[in-house]
Amino acid sequence: MKLTVIGCGYLGATHAACMAELGHEVLGVDADPDKVAVLNSGRAPFFEHGLDELLARHTASGRLRFTGSVAEAAAFGDLHFVGVGTPQRAGEQAYDLTHLFTAVRQLASHVRGKAVVAVKSTVPVGTAARLAETLGEGVELAWNPEFLRESNAVEDSLRPDRLVLGFGSGGSRAETVLRQCYAKIIDAGTPTIVTDWATAELAKSAANAFLATKISFINAMAEICEASGADVRQLADVLGHDARIGHRGMAPGLGYGGGCLPKDLRGFRARADELGADRAVALLGEVDAVNQARRERVVSLVREECGGSLEGRRITVWGAAFKPDTDDIRDAPALAVARRLHELGATVTVTDPQALDKARKAHPQLVCVDSPVEAAEGADVLLHLTEWPEYGRIDPRVVRERVGRACVVDGRGTLDAGRWREAGWTVRGLGRR
Ligand code: NAD
Repeated sequence: MKLTVIGCGYLGATHAACMAELGHEVLGVDADPDKVAVLNSGRAPFFEHGLDELLARHTASGRLRFTGSVAEAAAFGDLHFVGVGTPQRAGEQAYDLTHLFTAVRQLASHVRGKAVVAVKSTVPVGTAARLAETLGEGVELAWNPEFLRESNAVEDSLRPDRLVLGFGSGGSRAETVLRQCYAKIIDAGTPTIVTDWATAELAKSAANAFLATKISFINAMAEICEASGADVRQLADVLGHDARIGHRGMAPGLGYGGGCLPKDLRGFRARADELGADRAVALLGEVDAVNQARRERVVSLVREECGGSLEGRRITVWGAAFKPDTDDIRDAPALAVARRLHELGATVTVTDPQALDKARKAHPQLVCVDSPVEAAEGADVLLHLTEWPEYGRIDPRVVRERVGRACVVDGRGTLDAGRWREAGWTVRGLGRR
């Protein structure tokens, strides 16, 4: 099949490469010429396991290519995936859908004959119906939300745990085309849910809201543990043994971040508000508030360790990416804490195995150092805020030689606290008194 992917960021570049891997001929489109050039050279403009290999293989074989031209895309094939960004509107909670409406309008203006537009971007429920009004005769709209996880994106795209296909009334051609496109995935037994536009849109919003709620739930329990002397990690383990609850996504700590969960939760809340779903609005608002409060809690622990003032203190932060195995720093909790500590007067040094270049560009006020041990030089407090596995393997005795004061705040609770204490460190964490 010949298909296009419009918007080649984290989602789109991965989707394009994986569609080529499934055997399709793929044209990726992006408005950013630098991204197009990097992708055409067979590399990803960001770090994602296994993606460079797929891009190199399929750009070399000629099955995958990238362009900046929507007109070229319209002429290339009859199935067009759309994965442009849907960020949070500046100064508001709601989504900014400008990129999505622009991309689809541009495409529709060039399409001659029949085409299927399958949107993968995450949106507030009701967007598909509005978008359909902008499409001309012969163009069918399908909703195909994406559930991939950054750091596991290739695997999640090739072997998703479910496919959701949403159609408007009379979307039978769109269903045939998408079933053909995903034939290998569907034939592998992947649960495939065919539904209407609104349910498909909501499927993604609700999934992200549930994941965020699970994290904020255990972090709310962490607050109670801190006040009562209980241990939230043991508590999470006990809860996780209940098959109805499960261990996954129950990691207490600094909370979630990234380019999706925070803005999707807020955009969903704003939409629930418009729809008058007051209880949902209240629930989603609390989930967000608990998450933000964890960041402030880490800042207050550091302040406490520094005797009440951060003026002139040296703080080292291990981690910049919003989670391990990615270089994505969008709404990264580690950087939010680092920036706040800097605002309060500290000199903050940050390190990260993958995200340091992005952190340096986005936050020039932070000192960026490659080596985690060198980054700790002279620190009054060391913060462990992104749980890269390599940080767990560093010998705390070696780091102790470098710091000014041997105090570590483990915002992710994954360092071996016993080992650090044995090496002479004061260990502070979340969810424990
Ligand atoms: P991103 O910012 O990395 O990528 C968006 C891309 O769209 C950019 O490269 C941008 O240049 C391009 N673009 C914008 N307007 C365009 C236009 N008119 N024509 C062509 N290209 C255009 O964002 P992302 O993380 O890939 O997310 C994209 C969408 O997918 C969002 O709605 C997001 O919520 C959703 N999503 C993302 C993930 C993820 O893990 N990143 C997972 C599931 C869903």
